[in-house]
Amino acid sequence: MNETKTEWPAGVKRTRQRQEVLAVLENSPSPLNAEEIFSLAKKNDGSIWLSTVYRILDLFVKKGIVTKASAMNSAFAIYEMNRYQHKHYAVCIGCRKVIQMDNCPMEKFTPRLDDGDFRVTGHKVEIYGYCKDCGAELPQ
Ligand SMILES: [Zn+2]
Ligand SMILES: [Zn+2]
Repeated sequence: MNETKTEWPAGVKRTRQRQEVLAVLENSPSPLNAEEIFSLAKKNDGSIWLSTVYRILDLFVKKGIVTKASAMNSAFAIYEMNRYQHKHYAVCIGCRKVIQMDNCPMEKFTPRLDDGDFRVTGHKVEIYGYCKDCGAELPQ
């Protein structure tokens, strides 16, 4: 079984499969989609189901342990540990490759809000399209 490096999150019941999913995310240098997490977790726990992985991920997202970024729909959702870092990704619709962005499109953006005192503490930006491998196959 994979051991998790960080302390087990408070308020979450510890189960073998939850620990497995968390360990997969902790050990991954880049965000993963649910199927990738499933296949990595399955190596250590052959009894885990994809539907279980989705349920565990939903729970972790709700608890703020894991962040979920989705390009268009949940089939393209990618998950990573919530490390409170400011990062954005572009996701390829063709092969689901995830490419990290070096800049932030929101840097010079001031939201216009009716509530002038609204304090913005974060944002999400979703970039999707085709990577150079997949884009090459598209009709011009
Ligand atoms: Zn691609
Ligand atoms: Zn940003």
